Amino acid sequence: MIYVLQAFAIQKTQERKMVKPALRVEKIPPYLFARIDKKKTEAKSRGIDLIDFGIGDPDIPTPKNIIEKMKEAIYDPKNHRYPSYEGMLEFRQAVSEWYKKRFEVTLDPKDEVVTLIGSKEGIAHMPWAYVENGDIALVPSPGYPVYKIMTILAGGNPYIMPLKEENGFLPRFDLIPEDILYKAKIMFINYPNNPTGAHAKDDFFENTLKIAEKYNILICHDAAYSEIAYDGYKPRSILEFDKDKKYSVEFHSLSKTYCMTGWRIGFAVGNKDAIYNLGKLKTNVDSGVFQAIQVAGIEALTGSQNSVEDIKKIFQRRRDAVVEGLKTVGINVTKPLATFYIWAKVPEGYTSADFCEKLIEETGIVVTPGSGFGDEGEGYFRIAITIDEDRIDEAIKRLKSLKI
Ligand SMILES: *Cc1c(COP(=O)(O)O)cnc(C)c1O
Repeated sequence: MIYVLQAFAIQKTQERKMVKPALRVEKIPPYLFARIDKKKTEAKSRGIDLIDFGIGDPDIPTPKNIIEKMKEAIYDPKNHRYPSYEGMLEFRQAVSEWYKKRFEVTLDPKDEVVTLIGSKEGIAHMPWAYVENGDIALVPSPGYPVYKIMTILAGGNPYIMPLKEENGFLPRFDLIPEDILYKAKIMFINYPNNPTGAHAKDDFFENTLKIAEKYNILICHDAAYSEIAYDGYKPRSILEFDKDKKYSVEFHSLSKTYCMTGWRIGFAVGNKDAIYNLGKLKTNVDSGVFQAIQVAGIEALTGSQNSVEDIKKIFQRRRDAVVEGLKTVGINVTKPLATFYIWAKVPEGYTSADFCEKLIEETGIVVTPGSGFGDEGEGYFRIAITIDEDRIDEAIKRLKSLKI
């Protein structure tokens, strides 16, 4: 009898281990970089010195003034308590000041700004606030994977807007069927763009807002790279065009501008209703950003911006080194005016994944296969210039020995 019970108990625990995950989780497409990760591990175990252009995470430390501010703020007991859901008013005021200076757009810090735990968090929650079962969200491909996956998780249907090289990696609204546009509730756009490095001109924002008005679509502009631009180019905010903030929200991040990816702070601004609804949803998910980080964020936005200029100079030199270096091995790419990504075509006869695997195996160079950013990214690979120039030179040397 005891044995039977023990056996039953064992069986029961074994069953427990296999609780079926929710369908919504099962539906998430498999991790597309799994193959690359495996190759990386294999190469490392063979003693290969990897040069990793894979991750879009700046290698440069956070500027000192921001760290110093954090050091002070962390000792202040009032920062040890739950922060306010929508973010400290002082942080939202700093955002509003920064916006005014940078874009000449006026934002009410009380209801047109919300603090985010990194912009990814806000982007991820947007479909939860706006997309219901079967609703359509327009998402770019290639693109930051969060737009599509979170739409699926919210029960919605992502409708893919292909970003093609011949269109400057901008979506063609005239190719989207009208019934789709009427059904769509939100649209994600992202300029300067990850992964293509493309930027949008004024008329693109104007056209996007016309679509938003005609079909009643909320535009979600991911502006994570608005400050990482070169050669005098100044990316614009969609709110410069949507003057009454009727149709759009914009997501910003301190991660890339101030090399603060690990700190987790960003913000969303724009249409009051959208900010309210996103904030309302968030009150049930998280409890805001650690206040000491918000205090550091205020320093980032309102303190000296010299570090941003220095960071950009570093990226610009790396960009030039990579673009020139690729040319010497017969890979011609457009020099991006913004972001820290270079988007290049894989050589004839390879898929993105095959080429990226070959690169790791034969040269130890890691790049990201374009197909990881959606089907439309097939045929390309992405180089993140988040490693220093010596390593870039070394990578170009190794590329010269690659037999394609
Ligand atoms: C890095 C990145 C983000 C997210 O940045 P956070 O660290 O969450 O602020 C959002 N969108 C794009 C396109 C990015 O590349």
